[in-house]
Amino acid sequence: MAVLLLALLPLPPKLPKSSAADKLQRQINANTLRGVFELIFEPLKDTTLEGVPIDCADGKIRRCFPILSGWIADHMENATLHGIKSNACPKCEVPPEELGTGANRHRARDYARYERYERENLSLDSESDDACDTYETLGIKTGQNVFQGLERVSTPDLHMPDLLDTIYLGLFKHMMDWIQGFLKKHSRQQAFNDAWKALPPYPGFFVPKKAYREVTQWQGKEMRNLGRCLLGVLAVALRQPDNSQIHPFKRALTCVRSLCDFTMMAQYRSHTAETIQYMEDYTERFHETKDIFLEFRVSKRTQAKADELRRELRRQRTLVNQSVAKLTRKRRWIQEQDREQENDQRMDLINAESHCNFVKMHLISHFGDHIYQFGNIPMFSTEYGELAHKEQIKDGYRRSNKNNPARQILSSYGLQHAIRMRLLKLEFLRRARADLPAEVVEHLEETLTAPSAPPVYRRMLKGHRDDVPEVADIGRALKVSPETICRELIRYSRLSLPLGRRLLEHPAILRSLPVELLTQLKIAVLAFQEVDV
Ligand SMILES: [Zn+2]
Repeated sequence: MAVLLLALLPLPPKLPKSSAADKLQRQINANTLRGVFELIFEPLKDTTLEGVPIDCADGKIRRCFPILSGWIADHMENATLHGIKSNACPKCEVPPEELGTGANRHRARDYARYERYERENLSLDSESDDACDTYETLGIKTGQNVFQGLERVSTPDLHMPDLLDTIYLGLFKHMMDWIQGFLKKHSRQQAFNDAWKALPPYPGFFVPKKAYREVTQWQGKEMRNLGRCLLGVLAVALRQPDNSQIHPFKRALTCVRSLCDFTMMAQYRSHTAETIQYMEDYTERFHETKDIFLEFRVSKRTQAKADELRRELRRQRTLVNQSVAKLTRKRRWIQEQDREQENDQRMDLINAESHCNFVKMHLISHFGDHIYQFGNIPMFSTEYGELAHKEQIKDGYRRSNKNNPARQILSSYGLQHAIRMRLLKLEFLRRARADLPAEVVEHLEETLTAPSAPPVYRRMLKGHRDDVPEVADIGRALKVSPETICRELIRYSRLSLPLGRRLLEHPAILRSLPVELLTQLKIAVLAFQEVDV
């Protein structure tokens, strides 16, 4: 995927949530953003309708109609650009109270209808209460959709699902908080930490260096790593439950497993109807079982209510209990009854008040439809953009004098990009044997070399093999000449071994050395490196 830097968007300072005085400032910010996007989309307007001739790879020139077909961003960026509230879905009109239900059969957003509605209300010259209510129910903000007015663009389809933001930095992060609460409730934190620290190394898997609770900041890569081992570690931590724990442990494991399985399948590069059905089943099971963690999603308001309830119950109880006989056994029995009642009431309150209605919980329900429409999910990922930051923005910032750096970053990147394009064009002309000045040809030969051949990964020997007792046999097994092996061994010995332990530099002796002597040689295992970013 090619990423080009077009513009740096202005980032206004954060405003407090409910400050009415800042309403004007918010409107100014939104208008500025729309203005910037109008500038960016300006060149697309005519070409979308009339087309533009483009050189194709087969040498022909075709009339093409470039249109905006996707926008890769995290949820908050999408909410700002689509002009919707932060708890609204950019694709469908799901009400906030149903975000956590897993239902995805809500009406798709019709941004053209909102636009019409907005215009009709504007002509009335004041925003009526009715209009405000409608905007509130639909979760939209008036006049803030930057994609408004683009021809041949389906705005709800611009939103692309993103594993990094929705799953790794979204659901997994929430789930880890719930799991920590769950482990604490059942006194299994230590078992979890022990299993976490005892994870063995494996190709493509990074062994965590710290105990889970010692990690203060999680990045996408670490969360992906966590997704690979979470279920195993949790299953170890929840071993040997007592009678009262069997049901909750089973349910918690099913819930975590469904999310892990869903994530693994969402990473597939190709799908069939069957794999998509699997994904939908996992989502369904996840929603069915997630209530086991509900008590760990208690908001501050609910916690305050629960505390108030407990105080009230205790107050009532002291009034009643004053008249109860002072026999120790009976008092103890009453105390136990009271505690149970207190717990039941707390759980009833939490179940009634807590919920999982947050937007990332809902977004996963669109994954299946997206695959049917646009193909696999890893194809669209904010990771590509994040990676491009380094070369396109951070390097430019370092080169700038830090004074109004935005323009310097853009011009630094623009120059580099232009030079690269120019060099490619000249190289194309040189290959076509065009008449170029001698110094240009010389420069091209110096800078542009032919693409190097892909590295060849040799087969690796793993463990002991009866047919490879001596160094000379390694060459036979791996099809490497004995001279090369001797040369490399001597080089290794001279560079890396201390004086007293160096190998004898005689080919015959080297060839007859037993292979066990060389097991400490460290060789990079390139073939197992991760292929994705
Ligand atoms: Zn939706």
